Amino acid sequence: MKIVVIGGGAAGMAAAASARRVNPTADITLLEASRHVSYGSCGIPYYLGGLVEDVSRLVTYTPEEFRRSRKVEVLTNSYVKDINVSSKRVVYVSEKGEEREVGFDTLVLATGARPVVPKIEGLGLNGVYTVRFLDGAVKLKEDLARSKRVTIIGAGYIGLELAENFKRAGREVTVLELLPRPMPNIDPELAEIVSRELKKNGVRLELNKRVVGLKGDGRVEKVVTEDVEYETDLAVIAVGVKPNVALAKRIGVELGESGAIKTNSRMETSVKGVFAAGDNSEANHIVLNQPVYIPLAQTANKMGYVAGANAAGGSEEFPGVVGSAITKVFDLEIGRTGLGEEEAKKYGVETKSVLIKARSRAGYYPGGRDLWVKLILEKSSNVIIGGQVVGYEGVWGRIAALTLAIMNRFTPKQLVFSDLPYAPPFNPVWDPLIVAARVSLK
Ligand code: NAD
Repeated sequence: MKIVVIGGGAAGMAAAASARRVNPTADITLLEASRHVSYGSCGIPYYLGGLVEDVSRLVTYTPEEFRRSRKVEVLTNSYVKDINVSSKRVVYVSEKGEEREVGFDTLVLATGARPVVPKIEGLGLNGVYTVRFLDGAVKLKEDLARSKRVTIIGAGYIGLELAENFKRAGREVTVLELLPRPMPNIDPELAEIVSRELKKNGVRLELNKRVVGLKGDGRVEKVVTEDVEYETDLAVIAVGVKPNVALAKRIGVELGESGAIKTNSRMETSVKGVFAAGDNSEANHIVLNQPVYIPLAQTANKMGYVAGANAAGGSEEFPGVVGSAITKVFDLEIGRTGLGEEEAKKYGVETKSVLIKARSRAGYYPGGRDLWVKLILEKSSNVIIGGQVVGYEGVWGRIAALTLAIMNRFTPKQLVFSDLPYAPPFNPVWDPLIVAARVSLK
């Protein structure tokens, strides 16, 4: 059996490893256009800020290690040009610049996503970056060393992780955001706490700013918005990503409404024998029971695991996602899962919600910090469909608990009586999650 995986990011590597586990004798080839596989792009902000010193620390496997340990033929610097579905061959340009072909019985498309770049003037200037791949990150870090003022366009996950890290590296940081608040996938009351944390740490956060151009003489000197021009030495664009679906389209793979690849729970596409996984694919939203495009690293790994197993003759299913995500901006931890209140409205789901402020530890135990919990319930069923937690410690565990509650359609009462762990250094005896659930019962 011959399996070809296109893409050596999280999904592609997970697919190849999982295919090998299921089928010890298959010929597995993985084609990757860049020179790295198995890179943790999520670590790039921390590399830029100096918390991770060497970029090689972000690489889990070198191609050689993966080849040796998984018996997978890993071809880097190998760009796939075309796929012939009827003759079951992938055409690629090899490291030496030669056109080559490799045959397949099953194929996994793990082509990822790429940064969205707004159509504005000045994109070709030096000192303008997006953040996605390791090589680009190395170049950006070198440039950062020569730059005093940095402007980030977009206050989403990448933008804010970069803001913290550029500050850590001692730079003057401005963040320009199109919307009236940062982090649009959390609700405004909690986004306000994020804004305060950014300002407290010296980040200049400018909201309601649409960037219309970049100006400079060879190198970027100004980021231009509709009403203000910001002087800068370096600009980073972080306004979201879009799925890489050119190859999928070429072979007639059906796309979903989001523009990402449509798959079933086995990660099969509409073309027989062709699977897809990762940032190029939609996933089923378990609350909404409809496909969504939420490209995240953990999801990519799991989708890859399922796609690879099935491509190798196994039988795995990916149940879907609820949109759980977490990040940290300076000292503030920000987590969300399920539907946000605004998001729910967009999907026509009527909600009620509670927001509480509590402490992260027992009142008498030193070191407790503020913690905010928002619970979002579906009005008709009284089931918890969303949760957002912001605070200075203990956010991950609470978001994890809420994720499981949402995936299992818990009511607030079931959350109140969940046997959550307690000890004074970790929480008050009535954990903030339980308090929020009790308030929502009233
Ligand atoms: P994002 O969607 O998180 O944020 C993009 C931000 O840019 C939004 O706030 C949006 O309103 C703003 N924006 C859009 N157009 C703009 C414009 N013209 N001018 C100014 N602002 C504009 O996207 P991202 O930060 O680029 O991250 C890319 C992907 O990677 C996302 O899917 C994100 O969820 C994911 N990611 C997740 C994590 C994490 O989970 N910790 C970390 C990094 C990245």
